[in-house]
Amino acid sequence: MNSAKVWLVGAGPGDPELLTLKAVRALAEAQVVLIDDLVNPAVLAHCPQARVIPVGKRGGCRSTPQAFIHRLMLRYARQGRCVARLKGGDPCIFGRGGEEAQWLEARGIEVEVVNGITAGLAGATRCGIALTHRGVARGVTLVTAHTQDDSELHWQALAQSGTTLVVYMGVARLQQIRSGLLAGGLAPDTPVAMIENASLPQQREVRSTLVRMHEDALASSLKSPAVLVIGEVAALSDATGASLATRAAS
Ligand code: SAH
Repeated sequence: MNSAKVWLVGAGPGDPELLTLKAVRALAEAQVVLIDDLVNPAVLAHCPQARVIPVGKRGGCRSTPQAFIHRLMLRYARQGRCVARLKGGDPCIFGRGGEEAQWLEARGIEVEVVNGITAGLAGATRCGIALTHRGVARGVTLVTAHTQDDSELHWQALAQSGTTLVVYMGVARLQQIRSGLLAGGLAPDTPVAMIENASLPQQREVRSTLVRMHEDALASSLKSPAVLVIGEVAALSDATGASLATRAAS
């Protein structure tokens, strides 16, 4: 059977200029493009030749089952078509890229993953936050607040890691995140930046503290998609970041 390749392509956080050159090449080669909800449709300018299939599945909204997406990719690849699966940010950062690659490879399909800029990195940068600012943070930890089995994160380990925490899928769980980190020993006045629609023209930034973040998010009607940056670096900003900021009243 003539089988072509599947590219798992990171489309970045939203700003189409954050696409990699490799992503642009994959899009140009693709005959079929499967596109997730969080991908900015502007990137489709790079694949006018392709058939585009939306397969978004955001929590609580209309949903395309993962098994269906798997089968769709397999079917087109087995027809010998070049498939690009476009995912927001980086395909392998909370993007199921790993499991899709394994599933396809187990069926003999060649897969190539193309990195994208993950939302946490882009959001921090666009707010003037250096996630590992020298002398302030020794590292950065990317975590999701949403687990498949609803198990709890190891809050104490996170609170005491000395790293900047970047939390994905956290908007609906701000209270749990706060209580977990406070119980784990993180100071109540630890700075927090909540960044909605990172890198897009409608990006919004809410600066707060661990103890106030839930109330400040409510007061500013913070919505998904948003990332949280928790740690001393979240007090940093540059002139551009500060002027764009929606600062919560303190
Ligand atoms: N693979 C993606 C993450 C997918 S999980 C990446 O690497 O960025 C979906 C979560 O990512 C959202 O709930 C939100 O926390 C975050 N996210 C994705 N796009 C975002 C954006 N433009 N701004 C802020 N957060 C975003």
